[in-house]
Amino acid sequence: MKFFNTYTRSEEEFTPISGNEVRIYTCGPTVYNYAHIGNFRAYIFEDILRRALKYCGYNVMQVMNLTDVDDKTIRDSKAAGTALDAYTKKFKDAFFQDLGTLRIEKAEFYPEATKHIPEMISIIKILLEKGYAYVGEDKSIYFSVAKFANYGKLARIDMENQRAGVRVKTDEYGKDAVADFALWKIWDENDGDVAWESPWGKGRPGWHIECSAMSMKYLGKTFDIHTGGIDNMFPHHEDEIAQSEAANGCRFVNYWLHCEHLIVNGQKMSKSLGNFFTLRDLVSKGYSGREIRWVLMGTHYRKKLNFTLEACAQAKATLQKFNDFLVRLYSVKNSSAQGDSAGEIVRKAADSFKAAMSADLNISEALAAVFELEHEANKLMESGKMGSGGAAAVLGQFKDFDRIFSVFDVAAADAGSIPAEITTLVEERISAKKNRNYARSDEIRKELQAKGWMVEDTPAGPRVKKIA
Ligand code: AMP
Ligand code: ZN
Repeated sequence: MKFFNTYTRSEEEFTPISGNEVRIYTCGPTVYNYAHIGNFRAYIFEDILRRALKYCGYNVMQVMNLTDVDDKTIRDSKAAGTALDAYTKKFKDAFFQDLGTLRIEKAEFYPEATKHIPEMISIIKILLEKGYAYVGEDKSIYFSVAKFANYGKLARIDMENQRAGVRVKTDEYGKDAVADFALWKIWDENDGDVAWESPWGKGRPGWHIECSAMSMKYLGKTFDIHTGGIDNMFPHHEDEIAQSEAANGCRFVNYWLHCEHLIVNGQKMSKSLGNFFTLRDLVSKGYSGREIRWVLMGTHYRKKLNFTLEACAQAKATLQKFNDFLVRLYSVKNSSAQGDSAGEIVRKAADSFKAAMSADLNISEALAAVFELEHEANKLMESGKMGSGGAAAVLGQFKDFDRIFSVFDVAAADAGSIPAEITTLVEERISAKKNRNYARSDEIRKELQAKGWMVEDTPAGPRVKKIA
């Protein structure tokens, strides 16, 4: 497989550290509210990545953190008059429900920041010992970016210019340089009763340190892939690299993958701009999880995705069309139709699909392979050339697509298809008519009616329909 590594800004061949095992860290939600579909674009990208890796034969160990303590969770739990843990629990539960709605596969671990304070404290101790961290004027602990030579390499930030330009404001923050970031924030009255003991006094961790601590605990000091939305790249991921590499003295991550934003009218969808839909908003408008999934996964992860409600309506129509197609395939599969084995078109689709997904998750080409197979299979069905075995092969390929896409519900389509028993009766009727046994043919028509099916003779042969 090949991935575009943000760190090197180039597409690279993917080689895991340890055989077939791929270890992935994904920055998860801040659980102070319902996630919006911009956030879910990132989680769907990560789900497609995870499923594509498994599809290509890798075992995946994925960690997604839950940020359940930060300025926003503290602020909003206070405003609601609820204890922090009770407040965030509600949004953690909602998050997992939403993942289910969108058919996002569960990660192996969902560690919570509040349950890993000792691990964070250990790293901060090491950073202080090694001289990368210092106690600020406000008694908080800060990371000194000037001490870490590679600072800015991921985001390609020119630290010289950065520091010169913004030094004026430094005093307000109680730290030496404005780019320095907090590892441990000393308690103040805004924090209410949210505080943990530490060697430096009562306080709470900074945001970045949680990801360094939890990735190390579950995935080791160096792991394969780190993902997130592009807005996480700076300063969050830059700071994660600085803390982890300074503390551990070794490389943090081999491949950085970032997904572009979901935008609305040219602007990033975000809570602060107020231009957001939650998943629940869309569900209440009548869209299903798989329809929304189709919209969110359909644009390559490194391109901006412009969200519109029309795209949701289009997704509904497209998936309905696929469903009708799968129902028809089941009808052919359940019949004794002799004909094309569909071997050629299925093989071509399978090869293109895998090649596309292996090439930095090229979703457009993967979708093209899916549409092409639908088109070719429809041609065979419409000309009466598709055999029962051919239909089974195409259905099998759609099940295979769904290992990554998870939108087609292939098996469920069987319920709408014509059952084998009915197809057998229809075929029997055809041969009765051929043998001029009209009495038998009429009898079969009645038998079919009794079972709830209507048969219509058309120039292209008999058509079977369920009686409404
Ligand atoms: P947050 O809860 O704000 O920390 O964000 C959770 C994840 O969603 C992060 O990986 C963000 O980069 C990502 N994210 C936030 N807004 C958007 C957006 N409009 N489009 C894509 N990803 C986003
Ligand atoms: Zn993170």
